[in-house]
Amino acid sequence: MSRTVYVNGAYLPEEEAKVSIFDRGFLMSDAVYEVTSVLGGKLIDFAGHATRLARSLNELDMAAPCSDDALLAIHRELIARNDLDEGMIYLQVTRGNPGDRDFVFPGPEVAPTLVLFTQAKPGLADNPTAKVGIKVISIDDIRWGRRDIKTVQLLYPSMGKMMAKKAGADDAWLVEDGFVTEGTSNNAYIVKDGKIITRNLGTDILHGITRAAVLRFAREAQMEVEERPFTIEEAQAADEAFFTSASAFVMPVVEIDGAAVGAGTPGRVAARLREIYLDESRKAAI
Ligand code: PMP
Repeated sequence: MSRTVYVNGAYLPEEEAKVSIFDRGFLMSDAVYEVTSVLGGKLIDFAGHATRLARSLNELDMAAPCSDDALLAIHRELIARNDLDEGMIYLQVTRGNPGDRDFVFPGPEVAPTLVLFTQAKPGLADNPTAKVGIKVISIDDIRWGRRDIKTVQLLYPSMGKMMAKKAGADDAWLVEDGFVTEGTSNNAYIVKDGKIITRNLGTDILHGITRAAVLRFAREAQMEVEERPFTIEEAQAADEAFFTSASAFVMPVVEIDGAAVGAGTPGRVAARLREIYLDESRKAAI
């Protein structure tokens, strides 16, 4: 059955949804996005995603397509129309369609393009992969310097995932100046002697909404957290490794560049954080 998607004010069957070939999202990757998880038909951390979207738009001098309340209403309408129980809602805002190709930003007469669609993922929370963990390889981080802005420039992350696949792994961690920045589509962590270590925020990583929640829950549970860069060698010698993202929640990493992390099985800290994150997020879902 076809999905109902949202494009610029209209709810349409996916086959009928259209965006112009002159849209700057298409021609210039001049667009930002958000992915919000849905569990039990409710949105996980909508406020966090709306706040980060506003920040991304602001950093790029891009107009907001509508209010946060209107965005929430669209998310809820899509959940209802698609009968979505578990999965994600993808949202993208572009600088719109100026009617031709031009590097110069259009003026305020050009409205932003707003697109949203659902992705049903039954079993998202009970993902069996979380019980076995995943394998990562390390690759050079050659992305642009404003990774704190959630743009749709996802070619290198896609290439990274393909490199991982080719190497028999599941994903890649990106390394810059000898230190791990983040995963291709997630934030990276290690655990050593009970301490959770993850890179500090800056322009070199995305400020993960799941990261913020998981670190808050960890501190509330009296776990020690240190925000600083770490190397691949340190990660390989750690007791545990894991990553976080809105759609994978907390995911154990059991192998890095062919070396087992800890016992080579998901660690206790990652498992506990996943449990707390899912419990608390479900309680706070709207
Ligand atoms: N870093 C990158 C590069 C990402 O693409 C993502 C997921 N979009 C994340 C981190 C995790 O962010 P979040 O927890 O908000 O999904």
